[in-house]
Amino acid sequence: MTHSFSCTGRAADFFTSSRLDLIAQALSEHGVKFQSEDTRLSATSESSEFEISQDGEDLVATLSAPGKPLLMRLHDQILHIIEHADTTLVTRMKWSGTLPDLGTPDNFRLAHVVDVSRPFANFFRVTMRARDLTHFTTGGMHFRLLLPPKERTPIWPFVDETGRTRFPAGADQLHNPVYTFVSIDVAQNLFTFDVFIHDGGRITEWLRTANIGDTIGMMGPGGGAMPKVDQIVLAGDETALPAMRRILAEASPTTTGSAMIEVNSHDDIQPLVHPDGVDVTWLVRGTDPCPVDMVVDAYAKVTPQTAPFLWCGAEKSKVQRARKHFRDTCGITAEQSYFSGYWRKAQA
Ligand SMILES: Cc1cc2nc3c(=O)[nH]c(=O)nc-3n(C[C@H](O)[C@H](O)[C@H](O)COP(=O)(O)OP(=O)(O)OC[C@H]3O[C@@H](n4cnc5c(N)ncnc54)[C@H](O)[C@@H]3O)c2cc1C
Repeated sequence: MTHSFSCTGRAADFFTSSRLDLIAQALSEHGVKFQSEDTRLSATSESSEFEISQDGEDLVATLSAPGKPLLMRLHDQILHIIEHADTTLVTRMKWSGTLPDLGTPDNFRLAHVVDVSRPFANFFRVTMRARDLTHFTTGGMHFRLLLPPKERTPIWPFVDETGRTRFPAGADQLHNPVYTFVSIDVAQNLFTFDVFIHDGGRITEWLRTANIGDTIGMMGPGGGAMPKVDQIVLAGDETALPAMRRILAEASPTTTGSAMIEVNSHDDIQPLVHPDGVDVTWLVRGTDPCPVDMVVDAYAKVTPQTAPFLWCGAEKSKVQRARKHFRDTCGITAEQSYFSGYWRKAQA
């Protein structure tokens, strides 16, 4: 293992080829890229490394990462995948090395409302306080809020004796939507994020009546790596606006391309920091075309050789159509694109 923090899980007398095949299948289904040779599955990157293999009659998983938070995230991800492959395996594994502490997960915080403002017509800007935010400054720009059901004493996630993070189910199930950090101030223990205000949204409703000091859970960070590319095309709606805003602000000044952003009204249009070579177009819902459809039309015949980096974040069915077109029809690879359903329209 190349990284300095590591742990090993061993399931004694539990190796079978079919069990390893199921793990390989579960890794693929979760979008994990890995190598497979004989009785060994493995992957190495700058931020993590794992190997799942046969050792005599035993099935052994060895994980490593450059820091404890990254290792804990990898550990939880691999256990989640292993559990999908075989529900008995997680309880059979005995772990050694650097392990998560039992109880509260390292990546969980209780967050307290400090301020809720409304800088644009259809957005709340939320400021919250939580301890030790250094953990959230690397490894992704998104996090999950964890909102307990009304009138219930919150049951927060916990790490059980197998090392897996468990979430309350049934009547105590937490609503856990994803949001994007606008800023993190480690010294002041503060972070901010923008919430698109929409009818029926449980977070919208919670914020309408939230008082200073009210608490909610949060976990993260994760997802949404910054594309480091020369040419980019971004398309998304309000829910993806915080992510697009960060990508544009952090892009190299020489980046070229375009960003098409859909908002509910002209009053949601806001100044953005972006490279001079990236054109920003604001589209108002109901009046202008949908940005994701525009990208599909504009790049109908794109090839992997000619494609800019294509980035789409919007309602799930819109993004699915774009992903199908670009990945399946045009052959654009995962390295050249990002397609993510940011929310799901309720079924009629
Ligand atoms: C990677 C990622 C990053 C995200 N970042 C942000 C962010 O920074 N800010 C942000 O506001 N959102 C963001 N989202 C989207 C957000 O997680 C969803 O919109 C989520 O459903 C909001 O939860 P809720 O409690 O408001 O609504 P829910 O209680 O989950 O849904 C209630 C109803 O509202 C509908 N609904 C949900 N979202 C919308 C919408 N956008 N427009 C209209 N109807 C909707 C649902 O279909 C449902 O019928 C992000 C999503 C992802 C995947």
